[in-house]
Amino acid sequence: MSIKKKIILSFFISFSIIATLAVAAYLDFRETRSEFKYLEIAESIRGKTLQLRRHEKNFLLYGDSKEIDLIHRYIREIEALIEEARPYARNDNLDRLDAKMEEFSTEFEKITRMASEFQQRLATLKPKAPSYRYLVPIIEATFMEHPMQNAQLLLLFFDISPGDEHIAGLERLGTEIKDLRKTGEKITEISKELDKGARERVQRIIDVTKVAVVVFLPISFLIGFVSLFYISQSIVNRLKKLMQTIEKSGAGFFSPMPFPAGHDEVSTLIRTYNNMAEALRLREEQLKKKEEELIQSKKLAAIGTLASGVAHELNNPLNNIHISAQILAKEMGEDCTGVIEETVDDILSQTFRVKKIVGNLLDFARSKEPDFEEVNIVETIRKSYSQARKIAAFKDVRFSLDAPPEVLIEADPAQLERAFINIFMNAADAMPGGGELRVRILPEDDGVTVEISDTGRGIPPEVADKVFDPFFTTKDRGTGLGLSIVYNIVKNHGGSVSVDSTPGEGTTFTFRLPRHR
Ligand code: ADP
Repeated sequence: MSIKKKIILSFFISFSIIATLAVAAYLDFRETRSEFKYLEIAESIRGKTLQLRRHEKNFLLYGDSKEIDLIHRYIREIEALIEEARPYARNDNLDRLDAKMEEFSTEFEKITRMASEFQQRLATLKPKAPSYRYLVPIIEATFMEHPMQNAQLLLLFFDISPGDEHIAGLERLGTEIKDLRKTGEKITEISKELDKGARERVQRIIDVTKVAVVVFLPISFLIGFVSLFYISQSIVNRLKKLMQTIEKSGAGFFSPMPFPAGHDEVSTLIRTYNNMAEALRLREEQLKKKEEELIQSKKLAAIGTLASGVAHELNNPLNNIHISAQILAKEMGEDCTGVIEETVDDILSQTFRVKKIVGNLLDFARSKEPDFEEVNIVETIRKSYSQARKIAAFKDVRFSLDAPPEVLIEADPAQLERAFINIFMNAADAMPGGGELRVRILPEDDGVTVEISDTGRGIPPEVADKVFDPFFTTKDRGTGLGLSIVYNIVKNHGGSVSVDSTPGEGTTFTFRLPRHR
């Protein structure tokens, strides 16, 4: 993923976390507000129910008619609060309270009605003696507090029978008052529960908010920091490594960086750097090769000039010695004794050998420009091999040629033959006990590759880069000029030649020649 995308993604992650937290905080705030509102109403209900109970008590104690209005007022207020609390209700406490309030209201209505009826009747009752009239205000004041005791008073001191409506009325009133008290207690109980529940809800919401603040907030910040740290570290680390590698490449070490995973900008940068480093390394290799070639050419040119001078100087006296030896042999004829004949033969063979060396020297020194013509290189190889066989011993050597019938290039056929003969001769020298000599010709679009492999003794690695040097030889009777001549010929054709050898296994010479000059 690209750095741009990573930054956008991390921004969106952070934004989403912040947005989620903001929404959660807003919802939490709303919830808290409504819970506090509910608690406020629940507290009011509780307060008003206590007030209601207080006035109920006062009314039942003193029968004060002002208390009736106050009780009505509280009933109305509590019912209004119940309606106000409904949107926040989470259980049936409000419904229960509402039902009990209705019950209370009905019972209270009944009691006030019965009380007023009793008071009206009481005024009409006749006491058994006139002095008992003082009991009327006492009964009036206490009939609701102690209805049954007052019924006894009526029976004792008033002209009334036990089956009278007053007595039955007081008994019913007593029962109603008991019910009202029970309902009142229930109301107190429910309003207490309501208040307690509301407090618990507020406490719960405070606990949840605490957890959110103490746990989720640090976690989201941690996630944000960790992802930012990871992104920046992965970029910074790779850039640091790239910087170190670039510094090294400044000193000429074009080592590539480990292939980067991913497809972000830093990875692309590293890949681009690796491609550049590889291109520079190849360029440097080519430059080194060209430099070596230049040194070799200069060396060859200097040695060539020297060799040509020496060869010219040697050629004439050498010819004279050779001709003189030939004349001497002829003149002595049959009379020649054994030692003299051997000495003259020796002079002849040695001068012949030196002449050959001088001839090679001249060939090498002249380094003629090729006479280009169209050549079938497959044919040239065949010819070269049969020429080589005439000169050197190819005892037990199996020759194989892997090539198409015709590969045409522009070249000097005589010079190429010379070069291939030298290679074949060296191969024969390297396989005195026999072996395989394989030639592969591989045509290419703009040239041809010729591989000549033998299974001979091979070239030790420490001398491998010297074999093309003039006068380098490991043979007793070698001149060390064969491969130098090959090198010159190939170079004059605009090609290249290289050697690859494993001591004890064999040697391969690879020629690359262009199709056209
Ligand atoms: P010369 O054959 O006179 O020694 P060359 O220049 O032809 O000179 O070869 C130089 C040296 O390279 C040889 O002396 C030999 O040590 C080594 N050489 C060349 N060709 C081969 C080969 N096919 N196998 C092993 N060594 C080789």
